[in-house]
Amino acid sequence: PVQSGQNLRSPICCIMGHVDAGKTKLLDCIRGTNVQEGEAGEITQQIGATYFPAQNIRERTRELKADAKLNVPGLLVIDTPGHESFTNLRSRGSGLCDIAILVVDIMHGLEPQTIESLNLLKMRNTEFIVARNKVDRLYGWKTCKNAPITKAMKQQSKDVQFEFNTRLTQVVTQFKEQGLNTELYYKNKEMGETFSIVPTSAISGEGIPDMLLLLVQWTQKTMIKRLTFSNEMQCTVLEVKVIEGYGTTIDVVLVNGVLHEGDQIVVCGLQVGSNCDLNQSIVNTASDEGAPSQVTWLLLELALHEIDIVESLKTIAQLVIGTYLHHKEIKAAQGIKITAQGLEHAIAGTSLYVVGPHDDLEDIKEATMEDMKSVMSRIDKSGEGVYVQASTLGSLEALLEFLKPSAVNIPVSGISIGPVHKKDVIKASVMLEKKKEYGTILAFDVKITQEARELADELGVKIFIADIIYHLFDQFKAYIDNLKK
Ligand code: GDP
Ligand code: MG
Repeated sequence: PVQSGQNLRSPICCIMGHVDAGKTKLLDCIRGTNVQEGEAGEITQQIGATYFPAQNIRERTRELKADAKLNVPGLLVIDTPGHESFTNLRSRGSGLCDIAILVVDIMHGLEPQTIESLNLLKMRNTEFIVARNKVDRLYGWKTCKNAPITKAMKQQSKDVQFEFNTRLTQVVTQFKEQGLNTELYYKNKEMGETFSIVPTSAISGEGIPDMLLLLVQWTQKTMIKRLTFSNEMQCTVLEVKVIEGYGTTIDVVLVNGVLHEGDQIVVCGLQVGSNCDLNQSIVNTASDEGAPSQVTWLLLELALHEIDIVESLKTIAQLVIGTYLHHKEIKAAQGIKITAQGLEHAIAGTSLYVVGPHDDLEDIKEATMEDMKSVMSRIDKSGEGVYVQASTLGSLEALLEFLKPSAVNIPVSGISIGPVHKKDVIKASVMLEKKKEYGTILAFDVKITQEARELADELGVKIFIADIIYHLFDQFKAYIDNLKK
């Protein structure tokens, strides 16, 4: 039998859900910081990943279950806007997120982005729990700060309990309409088939202990193999960002292995030149000459495990946020910011590789290309189809998955990553003569340059933009139906 607790890495957890459901606030609540209020002001979160050490989780769950077994070193929670982090946490088409929290506002129920999240979770076969957030908004709610949810519920009046149950039944029905069974977590006897709902308040903390313990217990019980630490490096680029004083940096999630300062790294890049054709201009490495880059700094935003968080989580977290701690080496699982030369063209959603002393650089370059190749292979062989564009490889892949023959079946003739430029419009316009409706660009969560828009109007290329995948499909379908009339 597998020895549990021997060498497990921290589970990687994404927070998903509709805008304003409370994703950032929930993260703030468990971290003891206030990023959400800062978002509008000056403090913004720099690395969209926070590491919660087991010690921290122990403190927060003591009242709920003091003797709970915590076999994992902690929990790595990812929170970046939209679904990008989830879609970019990928490796050869499969998901690297171990478990997700789907946040649903108790006053609203399922909303468009909740359903989008559900579709993505289904596509990647990812486990998740539902946080039924904002319980404190129930009329007459009595605050029980940071209390386990059953304890908090006992303090509530009959009316509050009644409203709670009514809203719970509503959301369970809504999930059923999406083909999913859900149940309050402490009543759920068939976890795995029935998804668990944890009522939470990100403002006053009720249910947070339950949520943390459920995440840890469920992952360490059912994912031992997946969570067993491996020295074989597995690392994915989540975001490419310019940070003042550091230049272009990449935020990565190190899923397995150890990264060191000075490591030679290779990532898949996209040269933005005169002709930005994916086929021709993929560069295998981040640096211009084709030589690997060298990690100059490994930065961790909040190294909670290094400080006595139990006493001083709040003050220290607030001090350290926005600054970085430098590290010589970092072990998985962890969210890391890396600075190195030549990261400008790196593509979010691709893998990062380290060139070891015995490795062949050409082999590694080949490996970095695999990600791109697998996505390119989805282009329709007939050469007829719409043009599809997304901001990252992860979101492009999600969109192509949705459009594929066994799903909504819209053929794709070309793809690109990043803003829609003139050359994209020109490529899409080739279809106008073959099949008018395919002279279309489906743009997912990307900007369109002014020139591109003007040219599209001139040539008659339709551009549909949306930040929800199925809205793109709805728009396109309405357009086709209209053409047929
Ligand atoms: P996000 O878009 O999902 O990241 O949502 P935010 O975390 O930014 O929260 C959106 C709004 O809802 C903010 O005004 C929060 O203060 C508020 N909010 C979030 N969680 C709760 C909660 O549990 N209770 C109450 N009353 N308000 C909440
Ligand atoms: Mg947010």
